[in-house]
Amino acid sequence: MSDLRFKSVEEATSRKAVKVEIPKERVDKYYAEKVFNRQKMFEYLPRTTYEALVDAIDNKKPLSREVADSVADGMKRWAVEQGARHYTHWFQPMTGGTAEKHDAFIEHDGKGGVVETFSGKLLVQQEPDASSFPNGGIRNTFEARGYSAWDISSPAFIVDNTLCIPTIFISYTGESLDYKTPLLRALNAVDKSATRVARFFDDDVKHVLCYLGWEQEYFLVDEALYAARPDLVLTGRTLMGHESAKNQQLEDHYFGAIPSRVEAFMLDLEIECHRLGIPAKTRHNEVAPNQFELAPIFEEANLANDHNLLLMSVMNEVARRHNFRVLLHEKPFAGINGSGKHNNWSLGTDTGKLLFSPGKTPKENLEFIVFVSNVMAAVHKHNALLKASIMTATNAHRLGANEAPPAIISMFLGKQLSEVLDRIEKNEVDSIIMEGKGEMRLDLTQIPELMIDNTDRNRTSPFAFTGNRFEYRAVGSSANCASALIALNAAVAVELNEFADRVEARLAKGEPIDKVLLDEARENIIKARAIQFDGNGYSDEWKVEAKRRGLDVESSAPLMFDSYLWPSSVEMFEKAGLFNKKELEARNEVKWEMYSKKLQIESRVLGDLAINHIIPAAITYQRLLLDNVYKVKELFDGDTAKKIGGQDMASIEKIAGHLNEIKFLVEKMIKERHIANRKPSEREKAIAYHDNVAPLMEEIRHHIDSVELMVDNEIWPLPKYRELLFIR
Ligand code: ADP
Ligand code: MG
Repeated sequence: MSDLRFKSVEEATSRKAVKVEIPKERVDKYYAEKVFNRQKMFEYLPRTTYEALVDAIDNKKPLSREVADSVADGMKRWAVEQGARHYTHWFQPMTGGTAEKHDAFIEHDGKGGVVETFSGKLLVQQEPDASSFPNGGIRNTFEARGYSAWDISSPAFIVDNTLCIPTIFISYTGESLDYKTPLLRALNAVDKSATRVARFFDDDVKHVLCYLGWEQEYFLVDEALYAARPDLVLTGRTLMGHESAKNQQLEDHYFGAIPSRVEAFMLDLEIECHRLGIPAKTRHNEVAPNQFELAPIFEEANLANDHNLLLMSVMNEVARRHNFRVLLHEKPFAGINGSGKHNNWSLGTDTGKLLFSPGKTPKENLEFIVFVSNVMAAVHKHNALLKASIMTATNAHRLGANEAPPAIISMFLGKQLSEVLDRIEKNEVDSIIMEGKGEMRLDLTQIPELMIDNTDRNRTSPFAFTGNRFEYRAVGSSANCASALIALNAAVAVELNEFADRVEARLAKGEPIDKVLLDEARENIIKARAIQFDGNGYSDEWKVEAKRRGLDVESSAPLMFDSYLWPSSVEMFEKAGLFNKKELEARNEVKWEMYSKKLQIESRVLGDLAINHIIPAAITYQRLLLDNVYKVKELFDGDTAKKIGGQDMASIEKIAGHLNEIKFLVEKMIKERHIANRKPSEREKAIAYHDNVAPLMEEIRHHIDSVELMVDNEIWPLPKYRELLFIR
């Protein structure tokens, strides 16, 4: 076994950077070449079809069958020219990731041969077997069949000779079985209500768009080392491994040079992204060794999220070309930073204004305050739900576990904005004067021009204001961002709607708009101020303080999911037009089920490694020691023998102690698993895994890591942290 370890280390350290084929043309020439974007639609579709499609996309209208047929024909012609032979409906099941079922374009031609065809019917709708995807009992509750339907707002693209058509996945009775459907609904809801509010300031606003700029963190591991770690292969994280003597304490990785093998991978990945129309822009090392980040230019949220999902699968492929494996797991290694996916989130009008961006005039600033105060109110009311929306078995290792940030949602606003809110709260700002054509003058001498300095950063906040957007940092690196965006946009949509209702009611009574808007913003601020925390989110005092403020401090993932079913959440989701209670229950079943399954797999792998890899290696070493002790006893007399062999005797005992514990704990863990598996509901099962299985895994790991420090390096079967973590 150790042979495998040493071979893999040798293989990994002797590799050179793989040469990347850099396109000869400029990036604008190959950018989005694999995407059926408007330019290609224009080129490949008849004029009337093109116009009907663009109209449907822009104005959210349904497509007629004739138009769909014509689009399908043009799309197929383009795809075949690009070498595509298959098409697939690409969708986002609740398991995470994406799913696809490929079909060839071919049909019988009636003469014994085939023709390549693609009809509007196949483009628009398909029936993948819904039963093979988790649906939390929706099938039993509602209707057995599900279908995928084309999301015309996200363009089709080609990966590996397959035309991929972004689709939603719903049951025949309309319940969503995926992430995209509720995301689109949430974006619609926030569009409607934010537009209502934005129109208090500007009549020209017709729509409000939601933007997302994700920052994808990841680890790279050499594929030979990866293959020698069954835990990485099967669970995506190391279930054991003593900390390396050197890890991130020198903080030298963040600013360090990118190793040439990694640089080649990044370059290759960027080129691939650009061909697929993913606007990859930033790349850098992250804090932990072997940890990196890629961030694109932000885009409309639905498209941005599709791009993130696509990126995650493209990364895996490109990494393999470079003899790497990408680890998207939130916590692949204990003792060093885990990976997140900051979601930079903002709203902007179709007139080009970012609504969380302070402006130059008092009117613009009042609008800014109105929108920020509504986000505060939404995040405050639904802080438990927002936390649940980012929680998974894997992200649980990042939040509220061994690594900060804690499992508490708070908002960082920064010194300047905070001062402005203080003044508004204390009623020091009360006169806004309407001047002439709807121009407002806000008598805020202290904020005639808000210049929010975005260098004022707090890296410990899970939800931070960063100048013209909020950065939702608690999202996990392997997550579908939609989960977080659904909860956030729905909550904000409902808040804005209620705000608009209150404002309109007061306007109807003849109150002046300027006063009403400021008053209502003040009300929000007063009620929601407890959500603001600018201090150190990693400190223990914060946990106490947060609890005092009534924020949710639940740290058990299965219990966090309960908040989806709280009356306040059900009501909010119903108002936003996203889910009814049954759907929320069904979706929660999936969350609990996934949670238990992940832990079950980890626990099995850990048990196997402990019993079949670690204990035998340790016993081999013990035999060496015993052998030595015997020989010493034969050659030397009593006292001298004790002196020479005493150390070894002590080691033998110590190792034996750990091995006994490991055996005992593995047995106990298996029993606990059996008890958990027999629980009558998914919720109780997940709770049992959390409460009774996970802690044993930690304990077992602790003993194994201690043994690792004692056993001869030559005998240890698994690549160690120091070997996994420093790419040369
Ligand atoms: P950081 O300093 O946090 O690492 P960057 O400045 O690199 O972050 O930007 C992070 C992401 O934020 C980028 O993807 C960027 O496109 C995105 N971003 C910038 N402005 C906005 C905005 N108004 N809305 C959404 N995303 C934005
Ligand atoms: Mg960031």
